[in-house]
Amino acid sequence: MFDLAITNGRIADALQDFCGCVYVKNGKIAAVTAEPVFEAAETIDASGLIVLPGFIDPHAHLNDPGLTESEDFYTGTCSAAAGGITTVIEHPMTFPSPSTGKILADKDAIAKEKAVVDYTLFGACNPDNADELIKMKEAGAAGVKAFMPYSPEIPKMNDGQLLFHMKKLREIGLPLIVHCENDDIVSSCTEKMISEGRTAPADYPDGRPEIAETEAVERLAKLAQETGASAHVAHCSTAESLRIVQAYREKGVNITVETCPHYLLFNRDMLEEFGTYGICNPPLRRKENVEDMWSELKKGHIQFVGSDHCAYTYEEKAEGEGNAFSTPPGMTSIQTCFPMLFDEAVGKRGLDLNAFVRLTSTNAAKKYGMYPKKGTLQPGADADLVILDPDREWTVSEDRLFYKQPWTPVMGWKVKTTVERTIVRGKTVYHGGAIEAEPGYGRYALDDEEGKKEGTKEE
Ligand SMILES: [Zn+2]
Repeated sequence: MFDLAITNGRIADALQDFCGCVYVKNGKIAAVTAEPVFEAAETIDASGLIVLPGFIDPHAHLNDPGLTESEDFYTGTCSAAAGGITTVIEHPMTFPSPSTGKILADKDAIAKEKAVVDYTLFGACNPDNADELIKMKEAGAAGVKAFMPYSPEIPKMNDGQLLFHMKKLREIGLPLIVHCENDDIVSSCTEKMISEGRTAPADYPDGRPEIAETEAVERLAKLAQETGASAHVAHCSTAESLRIVQAYREKGVNITVETCPHYLLFNRDMLEEFGTYGICNPPLRRKENVEDMWSELKKGHIQFVGSDHCAYTYEEKAEGEGNAFSTPPGMTSIQTCFPMLFDEAVGKRGLDLNAFVRLTSTNAAKKYGMYPKKGTLQPGADADLVILDPDREWTVSEDRLFYKQPWTPVMGWKVKTTVERTIVRGKTVYHGGAIEAEPGYGRYALDDEEGKKEGTKEE
């Protein structure tokens, strides 16, 4: 007897797509079948619905600890659950900076108390913490993150420092995730925009032009080629960057790239409507670039997508009124971005479900050592599932959002796809508009059954 049966759904992962059933036992996928052949304690009828591996968000800022007036591990993972996400990778922009093994372990202890979906953490990579890289790995880091441009949270790294750290990361076997923008270009262009008084939200992208990203991406790819380290381009915003990464991948360089739904769904013209809520780094781009990104996506040149959810208080976002360059960069997105991407990618542009799952789950699981525990519906995998209704439209409104600060650039937008239910290790954590898990249900995704760190092993 199984614990749970999900019957009559359209079941898909990276390799399969058929109408049938998923059976769950002890939190794991026990069987997938075309016909409802087994008995289970509980049955969910998924007629007319789509059942996929839960989304894995490899790029979220949950601001905990240190900035919890705008988000924390509880509100952030509730929002993730409502958005169909079953594993979140939290980025190291918190305080104290998780740049040592000890601080990362302390942060994990906070997350363990509050999370309602599974999670892992990235450590911070800064010019001075080469000796801590191994300790962060031992504390369970799925990777470490570095900045090429200035960031208020993590000191930026120059090329020599990157080279040195990447050699070390290659030895340790830990991926490096990089915010790629050329610092000189960004600071000069931003200064020029401010001196010319061009400081409206719609002007903002000209302060961080596309060349700032593409140049930095090429530099990172070269460093990855030189060092053999596993490198990753965070939140890529231009089609040209995607082509650069693809060219290096074809040469055998160990580099991957993610984009965010906002670079596929929004363009810079929308900043008139979004105002400071649409300010993020890198910024929203030209419409033509967005179309170009889609054609690269269709060719398989984007490995995965991440929300880059990044909340601030209303007051913090208001700091940019009158000068968009003083806006803290980032938008909320974790609850809406995957259903919205489903609408556009599968609903409008005809992307097949296998490719959609690779983009939203499987490939991130592979990069960060979670596969085949996560990211697949193979028997033995964690029973992490999202059940979608692709034809039940809803309107984004404050009362539907679980964000601690329920603003979003897409307030009032209609989304055709509804997340019906989110299941983590066999348990429903979100269903019908409500969270059904207690804080602390979420586990460190790389832990084994006894809670011991398994560490990262890249596929
Ligand atoms: Zn980010």
